[in-house]
Amino acid sequence: MFNYGRSTFTWNGTLKELQGTYHSSVCKEGRRSSMAASPNSSSGLEVLLSTLQNAGDVESTLNILNVLDELLSAGTDRRIHYLISKGGSEALLKALVNTARCFSPNYTILLPLLHLLAKVGHRDRRIGMKAEDAGGVVLTLNLLKQNLENAKRAAACLWVIQVFASSVSTANLIGENCGIDVIFRLIPPYTTKNLHTIKAAINAFGAVLCTKANVCLVVSKGYISGLLRLYEDWHCKDTHHVAIAIRHALLRCLHKVTYSTAGREAFFSLGGLRLIHQTTQACLLNTALSSLVEPSVQLMRKCLPKTQLPLTSNLSAYSFPIPGRPHSDLHVNVAFGDSCEDSDEEEAEKHQETTTTENNSYDDDLETDSNKLRHRPELDRPKEALAQYNVFCPELSHDFQELDLGSEKEKSSASSSSDEDDEELCSSWSPHSPQIKESGSFQRKYSKGAGQSDSPHDFHISSTVLGTSPSVSAMPKDSRGNTSQQQNGNGHNDEQEAGDESCNKTAIDRLLERNASVIPFHDPKLYSSAASKTRSIPDFNILGFPDFWGHLPPQGHEPMAPRKPNVQRQKVLEDVQRFLNKEDIVNKVVFDLEDCGLQCPSESLKFFSKFESGNLRKAVQVRKYEYDLILNADVNSSQNSQWFYFEVSNMEPCVPYRFNIINCEKTNSQFNYGMQPVLYSVREALDGRPHWVRAGTEICYYRNNFCPVRGRKMDTFYTMTFSISFRHSDDVCYLAYHYPYSYSALKAHLKVLQKSIDPADIFFQQQTLCGSLAENPCPLVTITACPASRGWKDLHQLRNRSYIVLTGRVHPGEPNASWVMKGTLEFLCSSDPVAQSLRETYVFKIIPMLNPDGVINGTNRCNLNSEDLNRQWCKPDPVLSPTIFHTKGFLYHLNSIGRTPLVYCDYHGHSRKKNVFLYGCSVKETLWQSSVDTVGVKEDPGYRTIPKTLDRLAPAFSINSCNYLVEKSRSATARVVVWREIGVLRSYTMESTFNGCDQGICKGLQMGTRELQEMGVKFCHSLLSVSKDVKNLYSRRLINHIDLDHNTLDHTSNDCFEDDEPPCVEEIEYSKDCPAQKGADLDSDVNNNMVGSDEDEACEEEHQRNSLSPSHSSSTKSRLITQTSIGTE
Ligand SMILES: [Zn+2]
Repeated sequence: MFNYGRSTFTWNGTLKELQGTYHSSVCKEGRRSSMAASPNSSSGLEVLLSTLQNAGDVESTLNILNVLDELLSAGTDRRIHYLISKGGSEALLKALVNTARCFSPNYTILLPLLHLLAKVGHRDRRIGMKAEDAGGVVLTLNLLKQNLENAKRAAACLWVIQVFASSVSTANLIGENCGIDVIFRLIPPYTTKNLHTIKAAINAFGAVLCTKANVCLVVSKGYISGLLRLYEDWHCKDTHHVAIAIRHALLRCLHKVTYSTAGREAFFSLGGLRLIHQTTQACLLNTALSSLVEPSVQLMRKCLPKTQLPLTSNLSAYSFPIPGRPHSDLHVNVAFGDSCEDSDEEEAEKHQETTTTENNSYDDDLETDSNKLRHRPELDRPKEALAQYNVFCPELSHDFQELDLGSEKEKSSASSSSDEDDEELCSSWSPHSPQIKESGSFQRKYSKGAGQSDSPHDFHISSTVLGTSPSVSAMPKDSRGNTSQQQNGNGHNDEQEAGDESCNKTAIDRLLERNASVIPFHDPKLYSSAASKTRSIPDFNILGFPDFWGHLPPQGHEPMAPRKPNVQRQKVLEDVQRFLNKEDIVNKVVFDLEDCGLQCPSESLKFFSKFESGNLRKAVQVRKYEYDLILNADVNSSQNSQWFYFEVSNMEPCVPYRFNIINCEKTNSQFNYGMQPVLYSVREALDGRPHWVRAGTEICYYRNNFCPVRGRKMDTFYTMTFSISFRHSDDVCYLAYHYPYSYSALKAHLKVLQKSIDPADIFFQQQTLCGSLAENPCPLVTITACPASRGWKDLHQLRNRSYIVLTGRVHPGEPNASWVMKGTLEFLCSSDPVAQSLRETYVFKIIPMLNPDGVINGTNRCNLNSEDLNRQWCKPDPVLSPTIFHTKGFLYHLNSIGRTPLVYCDYHGHSRKKNVFLYGCSVKETLWQSSVDTVGVKEDPGYRTIPKTLDRLAPAFSINSCNYLVEKSRSATARVVVWREIGVLRSYTMESTFNGCDQGICKGLQMGTRELQEMGVKFCHSLLSVSKDVKNLYSRRLINHIDLDHNTLDHTSNDCFEDDEPPCVEEIEYSKDCPAQKGADLDSDVNNNMVGSDEDEACEEEHQRNSLSPSHSSSTKSRLITQTSIGTE
């Protein structure tokens, strides 16, 4: 294809093996494809290579180079890799060294040799080492020095240097031999001449910057300033945009030098940020320059100086004294050390290392020890300790005497029993609480005693909002002032008080009377009563209005939000402007959880979060309509911020306010994939629309430039940004990560539920399993059908029902789990025939909230001891993790009395995946997945029945996301421990998305509380499929749509470890390399250099800064245009 200065050549080799090679490549009729690596050509290749290294005569060397180039130009990279495997790189290097060592090297040979070396070396990962071994590195550098005036030769040397520099030691060798200075001299300000050579120089310069030493050298020699000046010059003068490739290559160099802290600092102090920001604005206006925008934006993100969060401490604003631990020890849990060291320097080196040795960490995590998979560990406590849990199976000892009483009477007593309910709850709390028994020494340091639990509750609603209701004109001006509820003296009979208030109605009462919508299973007064007993660290005395007033899912579907193109780019540019135009920035703290006396400017938004599950710590007004928000870390911790819930007021209507939550920690979020936060408007609620709605535009989630206070600068945060236009002026609105569901809401819900059932029909009991660390009761609910009579047969049937144990909300930041649980509870208490059948078949034991304290205090992941409770199941501590300790104890107890649950399921929310799915446990699948022989492993495939049934019943359910693998990292989770230690075959984690579905009829829709509750119903439906009493159920014609096949075991659903989402269009992280320019690769550059005759070469002058003759210039230009047009396609 390419001839090096000769139109014909001859071959005088005589070796038989070469015939095939020679003929097919030289003769035009020979098919190249016949040269694919057959045994003949391989030996031919070896001969060619050995001849190349030893040949003295120009003719034959040229011939060989020509043959090799033809060979490699056709076909795929496989040929080049084959050549490399046969020692091709070494042969070319040897030939290079031999030829170049002459006193006057022969460039007729050297040039094609360098070209070939660049192409081959580009694909040889070890080319740098090989070049060093052959002595080719300094030699090539010297060749370059000799040919600074000759553009073509210089370009060839530069490509080879670029390729050599792929190894750290080679790049350093080039740096040590002044290579950087030599190369930099070849990068002129704007010119139209020798653009190929210039680009080669910039690329070579960028390539040698892959090492820390070279970056230091470049920084210390002030080349960053040079690069910036060059970039500016090319940007300003390249008005026809013919040198985009050069500008891109310069950006690439800037990316490389800013891998180091010193580089970034120099870049910043030299005005790099401002320059790149300006040039980017220009690039944004011209589509031809779009390929420069992304690398520019990434460069600015990287070089924005790190800023500490505006906090005095990373520790949560809420602390809780841990029993048995001195208060000062709290700081043990500080995750961010005090060291200020910045190891970003490593990034340059790290970046260099290729990540091909990436091992599959997932498979490493699988439990392959079949002993651990199959053998049940010993009890974690004495057997005698299990008897105390007997009390939690009241259905087994209950005599159902009430069945003999008239049902009329029973019903009326049930409806008036709310006060008793309360007392029942309280009384069951102390004597039945195993925690108190076991931690007798536990001193109640928690400040809030029983007498304080009845602190008055109020709403934090501006008087204007309340004023919309004419009936409340008597409302005191200060809405936070207390209403008559304040006079309540005793928390135990506040419902009594609520009754008394009817004579002396409060504004709230009137509001409720006039405006409240009928919300099923919700009663604001019960909520308020429940909340008065809830113990929070800050002693909340204000209710979140949505929790109090209630929420109805809005009519209609809520589709996922379309992502605006380049929304992140736009947000990042706005962030950069903060640094550049500081005079435009307000930077005023308008809310601080720790500074109650803070005066909020009258024109700014007002924030508030001191209510249950609220967790805004600080709000800083950045611009007129933009706020930075900082979330409170989990109690006693400095981490885990993701969940948010806060109140905002004093807004102007119909203005987009931008909110930036700047201390998020997860590396990606469904906010990048169509999810929106939720909004609740008090005014809307008072107008009869009490809805949490999905809201927000311009949503995206990306890594930002904040770092922890006094922490390592390496620790990073992510920004979750969204814009909200409020509909009403002077409204009070609430914003949350997801539909809030507080602990008091659960308490109130259970009470309403209890009132709703017919006790002659449904056996419903709420007990207190134990107290939490902060002594909030952890409810345990029993639901089953009352026996048809007190006859022996009916009681026997009742006492032989299978047990189903359900738990939820171990992670406070996953309220979706609570909504699913709400659906389950309401369904099980309903008159639906399936529910009735389920009650007659099973005894349900439900612990709806395993982490009350976390939910109350607005934590995201942990309990008050900053521990993830779903990692405590192996050996739960009775004092520190009481809810887990006693849930496990209760499960042990069921096991010990021969009532091992048929199904266990722990409800969760999943922040990174769509749909709803189950995680289960299977020995066989775990071993199979880790390629362990599973022949002879017997396992009941019954764990697949429920997921398969759900797949058919629940539109949101995705069986493809389910898996049944036992991971070591999950060995202390509820699912694995209940399966392994309690022996529950069907032990699951049910994960519900925060976002929506990407499959089925719900595809593209966000899930609301209606859909989440519906999922809780469907889960109940699926339980019919595992009933042992199948005949009975079939006869009821309830579940003929459920196909009960237990016997197929396939492995098709194990694709859940794939990336949760396809990569986002925009980089969430910024420490990536400069985005590559498409179509501008080394090969095409090299090939272009080969085009054109050797004669031109001699005429070419050193690249002049003056413009060229018009004709020459236009030809160069047109060539480059062709190239760039490829790049922008
Ligand atoms: Zn969870």
